[in-house]
Amino acid sequence: MQTDVFGRPGQFYKGNLHTHSTNSDGVLGADEVCRRYRERGYDFICLSDHFLPAYDFPVTDTTAFRTPGFTTILGAEVHVPATSLGEKWHLLANGLPADFEPTRAGETAQELAARCAAAGAFVSIVHPEWYSLGLDDAHGIDAAHAMEVYNHTSTVLSDRGQGWGLLDQLLARGRRLHALACDDAHFKVDDAFGGWVMVHAQAREPEALVEALKAGHYYSSTGPEIHAIRFEGDEVEVECSPAVGVFLLGKGSRNTQVLGHGLTRVRLQASKLGKEGFRRITVVDAQGRKAWSNPFWPEVSSPH
Ligand SMILES: [Zn+2]
Ligand SMILES: [Zn+2]
Repeated sequence: MQTDVFGRPGQFYKGNLHTHSTNSDGVLGADEVCRRYRERGYDFICLSDHFLPAYDFPVTDTTAFRTPGFTTILGAEVHVPATSLGEKWHLLANGLPADFEPTRAGETAQELAARCAAAGAFVSIVHPEWYSLGLDDAHGIDAAHAMEVYNHTSTVLSDRGQGWGLLDQLLARGRRLHALACDDAHFKVDDAFGGWVMVHAQAREPEALVEALKAGHYYSSTGPEIHAIRFEGDEVEVECSPAVGVFLLGKGSRNTQVLGHGLTRVRLQASKLGKEGFRRITVVDAQGRKAWSNPFWPEVSSPH
C-alpha cells in the first residue's frame, strides 16, 4: 500500500512563522515587515513579537496587512524564567488569540506552553542551540508540537542556529515532535528570507494553516523544494528540486542515502533503518542548502 505524505487535497504555501517588529525588539514596523515578506512571494507570516511586560505583552495585530494573496497568523514569542542554565525560556506560539492573557508570576514554561496550546496555538521550542537548551529542559515541554531545527538570525549572528542535534535525541526518547525552519528576523542585520516552512493546506487561511502545522503537513527549507514523499512497502520515494544528496534518517546512527548530481526522484530503502522508530528525510542541493521533512512513524505515516 502506498502512502503519499502530501497526497491529500491542497497545495503548498510558503511562510515564516517567527519574526519581530517594533512592537518588541525589531527595527521595522509591522506593516513594513509584512510588506517585505509579501513582496518576496511569501504566502503568509506570523509576527511573533516578544510577549514580555517591557513591551506590554504584544500579540501584534497584522490583520490589516492581509491581501488576497497574503495572509497572517497572530502569535507571539513567549517567555518565563528559567531554563536549567538560568536563562529566560523562549517558546513560539503561532495562532494565539489577540487577547491572550499575560504571563503570571510563577508560571512555568510547561504551564505557559500548555496555556498557548489550549488557546489554539501551534507551539514550538525555539533556537535550542542559540542558548544551549538542555535535553531535560526540552523534554519537559509536554505541550510542544515542534522544535526549531533552523533559525536564520541565530545562524547569522551567532553561528548557533541548528536544532536537529537536540530534536533527534528527543525523537530517540520517543517524543513525537515536528521540525521547523524560520527566520526570527529582527532586520538589524540581513537576517530575513533564510529559513521557512512550506505548509500543505487546503486554503491560504490562518486557521487552515495552523491546523496543517499541528498535523505536521509541511516541510522546512533553506532552499530546496520537496514535491512528494511516498512510502511503499520497504521503500520511500522522494521527489525534489535538483539535489546532490537525499538522506533517510532514523534513530541513533541509522541512515541511508542517495548521492549524485541533479537528483529529482530517488528511492531509499526504509528497511535499512529497522522496523520501529521514526524516519525523516533531508534534501541537500549543490549550494549546501537543505530541506527537511517532519519525522514519520511507520505505523502513523498515513496522511489521514
Ligand atoms: Zn527567541
Ligand atoms: Zn524571536
